[in-house]
Amino acid sequence: MSLDRIDLLDVHQPGPLARAVHAQLGEVVLPVPVTEIARALDISEIRIHDLDGFEGMLLTDRRRSVGAILANNKNGRHRARFTVAHELGHFLMEHHVLSGETGFQCCANDMRETREGRRHQKQETEANQFAIDLLAPFPLVDGVLSTDPDLRDAQRMRDAFDLSLEASVRRMIERRPEPLAAVWSKDAQVRYTVSSDSFPYIPLKKGDRLPQTSQAFHVQANNKTGFTEFWNAPTITWTNRPEVEIFEQTRRAPSGFAVTLLWADMTEDSDEDEDGDDPYHRELDMPGF
Ligand SMILES: [Zn+2]
Repeated sequence: MSLDRIDLLDVHQPGPLARAVHAQLGEVVLPVPVTEIARALDISEIRIHDLDGFEGMLLTDRRRSVGAILANNKNGRHRARFTVAHELGHFLMEHHVLSGETGFQCCANDMRETREGRRHQKQETEANQFAIDLLAPFPLVDGVLSTDPDLRDAQRMRDAFDLSLEASVRRMIERRPEPLAAVWSKDAQVRYTVSSDSFPYIPLKKGDRLPQTSQAFHVQANNKTGFTEFWNAPTITWTNRPEVEIFEQTRRAPSGFAVTLLWADMTEDSDEDEDGDDPYHRELDMPGF
């Protein structure tokens, strides 16, 4: 594989940078070959080991004249792949300021960082955005998405892109136009939630019990595994907005880890599209669940 780092020097934003790498790659066979890409972009060494205390490390200097990546394998192959892409992002975004004398050291929280703010957080957010845009570019993601939202699509993404299911669910929510959210839980306790901007506020925090009127709760209580179909949750099960209808679908693993996809029907509340040319609302008139 031959890639030209010089061509990437003028690209500073994570999304355009990942797209510029893909433009050089041309058509790729999934999963995206992240270690080969890193090597072709002057990362001389990539080591994947079981590590304690941090997820990834990039050994480099301010001018990026050298580059070596160390990624933690303890949390699985999917996480390690993401970490390699994240560290490559720090390497290619030369405005990122080293976190130590020998480069960057990134912890698990950094890999989840999605807020804008202080420089460190901003750099981590940018490295994460580069990583997901490199590993799961939208044009390729579109190839696995069904007409309507479906957690099975995220599982197919996981398998095709060699991503974690969590990253796949987040990517699906990021890409789809519908107001969506995901609630991750373990044994009926909330771990965390992610939602698209248009989704109403979910008054649940880490450690809370899943709402007892939800399908997700029943799935956990009955130790069901696999995917449910979408189900119309009773009013204010998930949000404090009685006028918003919520449809929910859960995937539960035998370990008790589950993810619930929430789909909000904002029709009553949002600015009506007078010409009715909005495929999302049209679909909700005739639910295909
Ligand atoms: Zn980082």
